[in-house]
Amino acid sequence: MNNKKIPYATKEKVEEIAAKWPTPFYLYDEKGIRDNAAAVREAFSWNPGFREYFAVKATPNPYILDIFKDYDFGCDCSSLSELVMAKSVGFDGRHIMFSSNDTPAEEYAYAAKLGAVINLDDITHIPFLEEILGGQFPETMSLRYNPGGVFRMSNGIMDNPGDSKYGFTKQQLFEGIRILKEKGVKHFGLHAFLASNTVTNEYYPMLAGQLFELALQIHRTFDVHIAFINLSGGVGVAYSPYDTPNDIREIGKGVKEVYDAILKPNGMGDAAIYCEMGRFMLAPYGALITKAVHEKHIYKEYIGVDACAANLMRPAMYGSYHHITVLGKEEALRDHMYDITGSLCENNDKFAVDRLLPKIDMGDYLFIHDTGAHGYSMGYNYNGRLRSAELLLQTDGSVKEIRRAETLKDYFATFENTPYYEKMMDEIN
Ligand SMILES: *Cc1c(COP(=O)(O)O)cnc(C)c1O
Repeated sequence: MNNKKIPYATKEKVEEIAAKWPTPFYLYDEKGIRDNAAAVREAFSWNPGFREYFAVKATPNPYILDIFKDYDFGCDCSSLSELVMAKSVGFDGRHIMFSSNDTPAEEYAYAAKLGAVINLDDITHIPFLEEILGGQFPETMSLRYNPGGVFRMSNGIMDNPGDSKYGFTKQQLFEGIRILKEKGVKHFGLHAFLASNTVTNEYYPMLAGQLFELALQIHRTFDVHIAFINLSGGVGVAYSPYDTPNDIREIGKGVKEVYDAILKPNGMGDAAIYCEMGRFMLAPYGALITKAVHEKHIYKEYIGVDACAANLMRPAMYGSYHHITVLGKEEALRDHMYDITGSLCENNDKFAVDRLLPKIDMGDYLFIHDTGAHGYSMGYNYNGRLRSAELLLQTDGSVKEIRRAETLKDYFATFENTPYYEKMMDEIN
C-alpha cells in the first residue's frame, strides 16, 4: 500500500524560507539525520568497535559532517577535497577511512599524513603506496575485496561485482596480505561493496557472512589479526512510497547473528564492524525544493520548475524515481499527469515523467523527496547553471544556511587570468 511520504516542511515554512533564500534550494532535516544516526549506533551497539564512516561524497558539507561527530562517526573519503573537508571539521586519522580507487599519489601522501586508515583498491597499489610512504607502511591496512560474479539476494535483487572496477580478486587479496604482513603490517581490515541501494534487510548480513568467512580463512592462513570488517555502503532507501524501508535494527541483528556464528567461536570476536553508508544516512533527510514557473501544453503536459538536472542529476542519469509533493496540496487528488522539467537543453532534464500529481499552479513549491544523498553533490554547471544553496532545518525549527548559492562570479572565476574576466564582471555587477 501507499505509505505516503510526508514532507518535513510545510508550504508556510517553505514560503518563509524562500523569502530569504530564493528557490531552488536543498533543505536538510537535522532531526531526521540525528534520529537515524542514533538508530544506526544503537543497531550495532553489540559490537564494541563499531563505527560508521559517513561516505562524504554523498553529501560533502562540513555542517553535516559535524553532526555525525556527536555519534562518534567518522568520514569515508575518496579524494583530496573530501580529506581536506574531514580534517577541517576536526576528524582525526582514526575517524577517517580513505577508500579510493585509481588513486593519485598526492592523495595517498595526504591521507597518510592525516593518519587515515588506508583502504587499498588494488594489489598494484602496494608498491605504489610503499614508494610514497618511503617503505614504511602503517600498522593497520585495509584491503578491498571483489569476489567477481553476481551477488544475488533472495528477493531477486542482484548486482554485478564481476563488472565492477573495484577491489582485489580473492587470489590477489591473499597475496596482498602475505606481502603486507612481510612488510610489517600488524592489523588488517577487509572491505567490500557488492550491491548498491539494496532495499532489503538481508544485504549487510549476507555480505558480512562472506567477509567473515574470508577473514577466517586469512586468519588461519597467515595468522594475522583481523581488526575490522568494513561493510561499506549500499544500504538503500525506499525512494518509492510503495517500497518498504530498510530496518536498521533488523540489519544490525542480522550481522550479529553471522558474527556470533563465524567470528566469535574462532577467537576473532574482537573484530570491529565498520560501515560507510552515505545514502542511508542522508537521502531521506534532504529535499530539493523548487518552484513551478512555466506550464506548457503540447503533446504532453509539462511543468517547468526553477531547478534542473544540474541541481539533481539522478533522474536524468539513472532514470531514478524521486517522489514529489506539491506543498499545500498534500491531500489533493493526484489526477493530473505531468512531466516535471528543468531548463537544460537536454530532453532528459526531467524530475518526473508521466507523474500523477495534483493540479499544479504557477508559484507552487515542489518538494522533491529523498535527495539528501548523491543530490547536491552530483551537481554540475552545464548550460551555465549554478549550484543552489544548502539549508539546514535545525532541531529547534530555525533554518541555517550551510552553503550559499553559487553566483555568476563563482562560475566565471576560473577565467580570472583572461582578458574576458573584467568584461564579465562589468556585465554582472
Ligand atoms: C559511494 C561509496 C559509499 C557510499 O555508498 P552509499 O550507497 O551512498 O551508501 C561507501 N563507500 C565507498 C567506497 C563508496 O564509493
